[in-house]
Amino acid sequence: MNDKYVFLDRDGVINKDPGGWTEYSYVTSLDELKILPGSPEAIKKLTDAGFKVVIISNQQGIGKGYFTEEDLNKVTSEIIRRVDAAGGHIEKVYYCVHLADDNCNCRKPKPGLFYKAQEDLGVSDISGRYYIGDTERDIQAGQEADLRTILVLTGKNSREDAEAWEHRPDHICEDLLAAVDLVIDES
Ligand SMILES: [Mg+2]
Repeated sequence: MNDKYVFLDRDGVINKDPGGWTEYSYVTSLDELKILPGSPEAIKKLTDAGFKVVIISNQQGIGKGYFTEEDLNKVTSEIIRRVDAAGGHIEKVYYCVHLADDNCNCRKPKPGLFYKAQEDLGVSDISGRYYIGDTERDIQAGQEADLRTILVLTGKNSREDAEAWEHRPDHICEDLLAAVDLVIDES
């Protein structure tokens, strides 16, 4: 119950969002994985402060056939390795690999993956924890799961974009490090 968790989106938060500069606008291989400066160190800060870090990410490119589960696992392992090397720890990674048309309950903005994580991790209630993401879909998903939300500006969206959204984040931070500082300050 008192376990401290922080939920993170992946692309645009931990690594450079693949939109527009990779072949399929997905991270399909290690060549397309560009870890954002400071993000492993930010996760280390969370680890040091006693937070468990959980990644919640849509990877529809699998459903579209752009890459395989094996490709995805390689990318995940590399992210975990880089975070480990910085002294941080990622507790668990959850992906939705379905197509939007599949109408699953786990593709953000639906909150299914958060509930799966809650059950999996044996947390009685994740509400009030933070979800840090870079799109309105992330903010909406976090809100659906009754989480607090932070938008970081290292991904798809700007502060100006967010002002026009129906689903507004609780906070807007320049990058993951600034978001993490806020989360730790509040705890
Ligand atoms: Mg993202």
